[in-house]
Amino acid sequence: MPTSASNVVLIAGGVGGARMAEGLARALPAGALTVIANVGDDDDFYGLRVCPDIDTLIYTLSDRIDRKQGWGVADDTVRALDVLRTLAAPTWMKLGDADFGLHIWRSWQLAAGNSLTQITQEAAKRLGARARILPASDDPIRTKLRTADGWMDFQPWFVGRRCEPEVLELRYDGAEKAKASTEALAAIEAAELIVFAPSNPLLSIEPILGIDGFRSAITASRALRIGVSPLIGGKAVKGPLARLLTGLGIETTTTGVAERYNGLLDGFAIDTQDLVETDDLQERGLSVLPTDILMRNPEDAERLAVEILTWAAALQGHCERAAS
Ligand code: GDP
Ligand code: CA
Repeated sequence: MPTSASNVVLIAGGVGGARMAEGLARALPAGALTVIANVGDDDDFYGLRVCPDIDTLIYTLSDRIDRKQGWGVADDTVRALDVLRTLAAPTWMKLGDADFGLHIWRSWQLAAGNSLTQITQEAAKRLGARARILPASDDPIRTKLRTADGWMDFQPWFVGRRCEPEVLELRYDGAEKAKASTEALAAIEAAELIVFAPSNPLLSIEPILGIDGFRSAITASRALRIGVSPLIGGKAVKGPLARLLTGLGIETTTTGVAERYNGLLDGFAIDTQDLVETDDLQERGLSVLPTDILMRNPEDAERLAVEILTWAAALQGHCERAAS
């Protein structure tokens, strides 16, 4: 039974990652899913630690998410932000009142000496997230972008400037020195299946792969490794991916994305709109699942998750037969 897999790891950023996580959590038995989350978008506001990708994962997996936006808490209010504005504080980062509660708690727990891994797992459990969520590292990693205006921090570019200044170069500060989460590496080692979410490869997945230990753990893993394309018909479902790829001289195709994960994947799920790329992907040694990869709602995400799990089980059976 494909949905009886007991150890599945999802490598994820925020919105695209959380949609895939929700689908997998619905399709798999309780306790089977571990999500390894990007921390490259994390930043401090008013002395509080905000982890946007972890927060989006927690809110989505606990059914608190504002589904229209894809981030933040549904029906949240902004009274705290209104006070901050009156006090002449910068308020471009849209933090809702309920959202502030989590940031206050996290910052309080960090100050008490707890690790981001402990804090994230406890928050996920207490808020009712239906998967284990592990930050890729407890050490700070900060994505920086070089634009015509010079190097920028991630959130001032992403939220403050609405991704407007074109990106000429990217770096992940701290990634080389950061220690990979031992829990995350253990999850990869124990996994039967590793899924690369349809997250932004440059802003969400590569800050994780840039941490020493992740690439080698994924390569060494006996798990089947499947990616899901964030592009459909050459366009991102949401966000700045297509413009980023163009700015950096990378092809805005599913093949262009798959090449970023060179050597780490066995298969790639693409949209039926991109069927013409099947040969290119197969030439790169990848099995291809063409299907509807748009996750319009949780039911749709579950449908895609079941298709991926069924396909993965068939590929695994095939590999095992070939090896024996
Ligand atoms: P962020 O951290 O919130 O920016 O989110 P991620 O990096 O996890 O995901 C962003 C990517 O998800 C974008 O490049 C989108 O194209 C992709 N995405 C969002 N929704 C969907 C969807 O329903 N299906 C697919 N295939 N990709 C999606
Ligand atoms: Ca993000």
